[in-house]
Amino acid sequence: MFRIQREELIDELTKKGISDLAVIKAMGNVEREKFIPATLRHLAYKDVALPIGYEQTISQPYTVAYMTQLLNIKKTGLKILEIGTGSGYQAAVLNEMGCDVYSIERNLDLHHMATKLFDKLGIRVHAKYGDGTIGWAEFAPFDGIIVTAGSPTVPKKLKDQLIVGGRMVIPVGDRISQKLYLLIKKSDTEFDSEVIPEFTFVPLIGREGWKM
Ligand code: SAM
Repeated sequence: MFRIQREELIDELTKKGISDLAVIKAMGNVEREKFIPATLRHLAYKDVALPIGYEQTISQPYTVAYMTQLLNIKKTGLKILEIGTGSGYQAAVLNEMGCDVYSIERNLDLHHMATKLFDKLGIRVHAKYGDGTIGWAEFAPFDGIIVTAGSPTVPKKLKDQLIVGGRMVIPVGDRISQKLYLLIKKSDTEFDSEVIPEFTFVPLIGREGWKM
């Protein structure tokens, strides 16, 4: 089911400039409809964000593809930290690319829904309920960090938990609009950073994020 729609979406993403073959292959394999409420499944392969309950969304496929491409995953077994598990789709894409995925979600219901789904689909993701702005020190350092909610600043603990040479992709800005940042860690204290044009994300709420 949905195979043709999935192929059409991949085609659309390629036309929009996604060129990383590993990302394209993974998104061509992961069934996005499984991560979406039943009543919206017919929209699973439209290139749009969709509500998943609790005022949260599954990100637009183009955003998932773009952010994943920025992580520049060139081999399997990389340890990637995701902040904002949400539906679990982004984590599933990273898992499909052969990453060892650690994902944190602050909404308990979404965390439970995602972990149940991972179990059902046989997807191996280390998922945790909690405030992702403080990272997951126990398993640091990470080869890559992807933050899927908009933050007022880049949380220091996330910078600390990135390996030297690692990449962090994070939307930063005000509550209405954010710019996507790519940070590459050069040393314990130095980062190269690149700003990517406007994307909009739901807010990252937490100790080093937005206050409720
Ligand atoms: N990656 C998700 C997916 O594939 O469906 C997209 C999730 S949505 C755009 C962003 C998520 O970040 C929401 O589920 C929200 O509850 C979560 N979030 C916001 N602040 C957070 C925080 N401090 N720690 C962990 N998760 C957070």
